[in-house]
Order: sequence, then C-alpha cells, then structure tokens
Amino acid sequence: MNTESKSAESHTIFYDIETKELLDPNAPDQDAAIRALHLSIGVTWCECHDTQIFHTPAPLAEHLLAHERIIGFNIIHFDNAVLAWSKEQSRAPEKPLPDTPDELKQLLDAKSFDLLADLEARLGHRVGLAALAEGTLGKQKLASGPQAVVWNRLAGTLRDRWALALLDVSDQEGAARVNELGAWFQERLERYCLQDVLLVKKLFEYGVANKRVAYIDFEGERRVVRVQWR
Ligand SMILES: [Zn+2]
Repeated sequence: MNTESKSAESHTIFYDIETKELLDPNAPDQDAAIRALHLSIGVTWCECHDTQIFHTPAPLAEHLLAHERIIGFNIIHFDNAVLAWSKEQSRAPEKPLPDTPDELKQLLDAKSFDLLADLEARLGHRVGLAALAEGTLGKQKLASGPQAVVWNRLAGTLRDRWALALLDVSDQEGAARVNELGAWFQERLERYCLQDVLLVKKLFEYGVANKRVAYIDFEGERRVVRVQWR
C-alpha cells in the first residue's frame, strides 16, 4: 500500500499558468473569453522532473500528458482551456498532440483533478486560492493574475522594443539597463507562477493528510471544508 501510494504520487504533476491577456469578467461568453487569453508562461512541479518553466504551449501540454494525473486549481475551467487554445509555436513531431483544441482539452481534462471544482461541488460556491492559502496554510499569495499580465507585457516590451530602440541609437548602456529591468519582471512572473503551483501542492497535501481544508470567507471568518482527497 505504501509503495503503491508513493508511485501514484510520482506520476502526479501540479501546474499553473499565467496569461497574455486579462480576462474581462463582463464578457458575455466567458468560455470564449478564456480561450482568447493565450499562455504567457506555465510552471509545473512533479517528483520526477521537479520544477519546469514553459514559455510555449505545446511542450507544456506534452509534459503534462506524460503524467498520469494533473492537479491544479480551476484548471478544468481555466488553465486547460487557455493551454488548449493557445497559439502553437513549436510542436515536437515525434509526440504529436491532437489536431484540435477541443481534443487536447478533453485529454487534459480526463487526467485532471481540479481542487476548485471539487470544493465548489462540496460548498455550492466558488472559493479563491488566496482565501484557501490563508485559511489552510496561513500563507499569502505573492501577487495577482492581473499583475502577472502586466509584468509579462512589460518584460516583453522592454526586451523586444525598448532595448532594440536604444541599440538603434547607440545607447548600449541604456539597452543593457532596459534588458535587466525586463529580466526582473520576467523573474517576478515566473516566481509568482511557481509559488501558486507550490501553494496548490501544499493545499492538496494538507487536504489528503487532514481530510479538511479551510478558507477565509468574505466576513473574515475561517471556514472548514471536509474533503476526501487522495
Ligand atoms: Zn514528472
């Protein structure tokens, strides 16, 4: 039993993504709006590969599908959809992904255990990762999704536009400083995404071990939810 559960754990992968665009909560078709966001980065953690950072969708999808179980927070509704509909930039020919985004999303969903979907079914309402992290682990999230969208845009613009513009006018020192600043925003983005992956992992492990997790509700009260995670 012990070895079985250990090997199951080693085939589990945790992941989270950040997006290029910001979700408009007032868009009439939320699914379509989510499909148009596009991946900026994705971070995974698994026992077999440790932390990995992806900047393009196809290698991330392949890496996820190489594992038996994919665990995340809101991945059925959000991350899997963004990933499946992100523009392909590189595709390894030896391990072809399905031709359509719909098929890819179905493959990802079939292996996914979504902590938010599970909690929503138990509670009858949604609950945020920040509220769970604080209530269960006493931890604060580093940043927010909207901040990650701005950091990604800044990192790209500084690197691709302003560093080149400065080089064009022979300001090497300025270009180097702008590149450094871009790299600083990129690093913040990656650190934030990784922190959320590790929060989801800790939350899941806490739920497995204690058969309950907790969140802070809108009135600031700590609420306990029983779970049967494994
Ligand atoms: Zn792995």
